[in-house]
Order: sequence, then structure tokens, then C-alpha cells
Amino acid sequence: MLGRISTLAILAGLAYGAPALAAPSAAKVEAAAKAAQPKVIAWRRDLHQNPELGNQEVRTAALVAKELKALGFEVREGVGKTGVVGILKGGKPGKVVALRADMDALPVEEKTGLPFASKATATWEGKTVPVMHACGHDTHVAMLLGAATVLAGMKADIKGTVVLIFQPAEEGPQAGEEGGAKLMIRDGALDQPKVDAIFGLHIGPLDAHQLNYRPMGFYASSDRITITVKGKQTHGARPWAGIDMASIAADIVQAMNQIAARQVDVGLSPSVVTIATIHMGMRQNIIPEDLVMGGTMRTFSTERRADLIDKVQKSVAAIGDRYGAKAEAVFTQPYPVTYNDPALSKWVKASLSKASPGKVEDNGALVTGAEDFSMYAEKVPGVFIQLGGRPANVPAAGAPANHSPYFDIDEAVMETGVKAEVFMALDYLEKK
Ligand SMILES: [Zn+2]
Ligand SMILES: [Zn+2]
Repeated sequence: MLGRISTLAILAGLAYGAPALAAPSAAKVEAAAKAAQPKVIAWRRDLHQNPELGNQEVRTAALVAKELKALGFEVREGVGKTGVVGILKGGKPGKVVALRADMDALPVEEKTGLPFASKATATWEGKTVPVMHACGHDTHVAMLLGAATVLAGMKADIKGTVVLIFQPAEEGPQAGEEGGAKLMIRDGALDQPKVDAIFGLHIGPLDAHQLNYRPMGFYASSDRITITVKGKQTHGARPWAGIDMASIAADIVQAMNQIAARQVDVGLSPSVVTIATIHMGMRQNIIPEDLVMGGTMRTFSTERRADLIDKVQKSVAAIGDRYGAKAEAVFTQPYPVTYNDPALSKWVKASLSKASPGKVEDNGALVTGAEDFSMYAEKVPGVFIQLGGRPANVPAAGAPANHSPYFDIDEAVMETGVKAEVFMALDYLEKK
């Protein structure tokens, strides 16, 4: 009897063409993410012990390419120098969604004491430096490989195409090199095939399993500031015979602080203008001819960024004028604001809530750090989220932040990260 009903059901299905495949269920995603978790942890520990600096991610890229090929992805290697792009065409036609992970580590000497702590060194700007995954990009790669595993297991049911972008050099390339999202985009990461939307995440010391984001400006824009001043050298005992460069340096620092605190609407959005380096002089009794100052600027809107560049440049030039020196501020290495598409931000909350029920904050705090995910989100609508990874035994206050030699995460949160990525991708493809 049962057999006859089944046969009838199949025949009825055939009458309308191929039987309709259901979208992968949340339960199926959860079970697959749980099953993939031991592999995700193994990948993370392997990557953590073998970190590579920006544009040097050769071993990491080879591992990623090997795993993606084994999962049946179409793989492009050498994208944006050492980047890897994996493409999974689902069983049904539809849109194209991208997920992005960054692969690079930092010149930091690891002090976590983990059994799989890094002892690696590498060459960076001519020096031998220790290398550590101090920003958690090891977990990003491991989670995206986890998502690849889950997605590959439901390929036939996927409506559309998933593009996985494994990107080098998010932290910025060494001097004289290019790298990061800019080169991935140049090499077609968003065009082959044409991506409709992109999602990414970053792990950090928020409460474990927390998923935080906010619509519109989320991570700051970043610009490197270089200020050069040309004066007139004189004896330290006769400052009036030359130009007093130390006074100029002091005035510029005060002016930068004053611009950020007093000359822009701090109620609308904050800004940071930092002078971090001041180089001048050789001896205590010579006032030198040259002064070079370096710093960084952070904003949360393109209008504010343009306004601040103008204010800083005018202010620096005016201070120089006042002393009879030639002073100018130059802005380089621009990273745009990481802008979360407002409509997608609203929509994505349901997907994230499936990944981490009750632990989604859609009005998260602004982050004054910058992310080159912003460059993808300038080209296609995107949402970038933070994943809380603070181990339970580490108090929130004083928890080692990203880039600390003590930075570590609770590996259990990677399962949440994998689910968040898979749900965002699948739900987007099912989206009307
Ligand atoms: Zn970082
Ligand atoms: Zn990072």
C-alpha cells in the first residue's frame, strides 16, 4: 500500500516536470555545521601554527585550494597575488552570493602559550619578524572552509551560485607592494561570475557567539596622514635665526586634536585624527630644517572624510605659514567606510538569529578600526558582521584585543560562524 502511494506521488511529481527540491532546512544546516566542527578546529589549529604575512599566504592558499577542490568547487588560484576563489554552482538557477575570509597574519610574537602557538618567522620590509594570527584570520579561513563543507553537502538543493573569496593581505601589504581586497576585485573576484551580494565576518573579543553589526557606516574609513615641514636650520641657542620646528610640531598636534573634537559635529558621528610619529633633529643644540609627522584618520562617512581632509590640509599649511615654513599634509592608503547596505542589514537579522538565537545585535557599536571588506561593499551590496569569540574564562574587561600577542578565541564559536555564513548565503539565494 505504502509502495503504491509513493509510486503515485512520484508519478504526480513527474507530471509537473522534475520534483521540486526543497531549500536546505535550518536543521540540515545545523547538523552539517556540527559535523564539520572537528575539521574546522583542525584547520584553525593548523593555520594558527603556520601563519603567513600579507601576500605571503602560499601554504594557506594551497590548503584552501586543495580542500575546495576536494569538495567539488571550481577553484581559481593566484587571484590578487595569493588569493583563492571557490565557486559552487547549485542544482537550481539563481543569484550569485559571495562570502569572504581574509588569510593573513601579523608581525606579532605570540604569547598565548597554546599547544599550537606559532613559532614562525618571516621577512617583512627587510626585517625578520615573528608571525602570529593575532587578528583571528586563522579562524576566518577555517570557518569559511567549514561553510564550504556544509554548502557542498547540499549543492543539489542550492538555488544559485556561492562564491567563496579567500583574500590575502587584509592588514595591508608591506611598503612598495599592493594587495588585499583591491587586487582581488581587480582580478575579477566579484565579476567571474557577477556577484549580487557579499557577506563577511570578523572574530573578536565580544561575548562568545554574539553576532553584532549595524546598518550603514560600521567600520571606519582609514587614511594614512603624512605631514612634511620644511624650515630653516639654526643653532638651538638662536631660534630666531631659523624656524622653530618643535613649536610647529606641537601646534600641529594641538590643531589635529582640536579639529576632531571641536570643528565637526560629534553628535552626528565621531572622527579620530591621530598623530603617532614625529621625526626631527639629531642633536639637542640644532634646530633642524625638516620635520615629518605620521598619523591616521578615521571617519564614518564619505562627507566627513572629505571635510576632514580639507580641514587638516588647510590647518597644517596655515601653521607652516605662521612660522615662515612650508608645511603640507598628504593622505594615502585610503580604506573606505565599511558600509552595510541598509536593506540587506534589516533582512539579514533573521538569518543571523537562526545561527545564534538571542545573541544578535543589529545596532552594534561603531568600530574605529578599518576593514578592506569595505572595498567589496562599495561594488556590491554587502553586510559585515562581528562574531564574539571571547573564551568564557576571560573577563570582558581587559580581554586581549585583536592584534594582542595574547589574543585567543573560544573555538566553539566557529560553529556559530559557519552557520551564520551558510544561512546568510542560502537565505539570500532563496530571497525573492
Ligand atoms: Zn587586524
Ligand atoms: Zn582582521
